[in-house]
Amino acid sequence: MKVYISADIEGVAGITHWDEAFKEKEGYAEFREQMTVETVAACEGALAAGATEITVKDAHGSGRNIFPERLPEQVRLIRGWSGHPLSMVQDIDAGYDALAMVGYHSAASAGNNPLAHTITGKVAKMLINGEVTSEFLLHRNAAAGFGVPTVFLSGDKGICDTAKATNPHIHTVATKTSDGHSTTSIHPAKAAKKIRDGVTAALGDAAALEKPGLAERFELEIWYKENTDAYRASHYPGARLGAPHCVAYEASDFFEIMRMLQFVL
Ligand SMILES: [Zn+2]
Repeated sequence: MKVYISADIEGVAGITHWDEAFKEKEGYAEFREQMTVETVAACEGALAAGATEITVKDAHGSGRNIFPERLPEQVRLIRGWSGHPLSMVQDIDAGYDALAMVGYHSAASAGNNPLAHTITGKVAKMLINGEVTSEFLLHRNAAAGFGVPTVFLSGDKGICDTAKATNPHIHTVATKTSDGHSTTSIHPAKAAKKIRDGVTAALGDAAALEKPGLAERFELEIWYKENTDAYRASHYPGARLGAPHCVAYEASDFFEIMRMLQFVL
């Protein structure tokens, strides 16, 4: 069994402030550690379920957060950013049996996490076919394009609820809830244990492993915070300015949505 694990930081247990998410800031070391602990737990859960190959994408910020030597030896780790449209699931293909997401977070406009955002801070709200779109949904759809199911997600409770609403068979572990700038988290060690057990359970669940569905057409709307960013993005081939702050784009192949985002965010 071949498993892909995509890891972010804004949904790990305890993280609350942007100063804790970026390398140059005080507070980062602690949550780089927690991102590593939760990713290691997901790898261990996959190995316990019989995974023979695991790819981990370090998918936050610089792409250089996880301590490589802490991962199990079976893991192949992707660090940094290639610029490829698959982004947080770079190199995923039809050869994978499952995708698991660790440390994921609520979307821009969704609330539920003081660090809620979608890809960059430029986005006020992103919609696909009229629904608020998260990094979870973007990469879940990107993987589904290769027939790879997203079987597990850990992160803030809001994104867990979103994942469940997309597919009730996804296994989730909620690490925290939030009110305003505050968060309330489970113990970091408990989060790791639940992630380990959750990934093992997900990879043993035939319903979670079913081939994922995907819409036939995608209408993307990106509502930028600044109208100047929307104007610039509206010149991407096929895109149009839907409103001063909004760029609209349509595609039948989800990969084209991912390609567009690589250039306009
Ligand atoms: Zn991130």
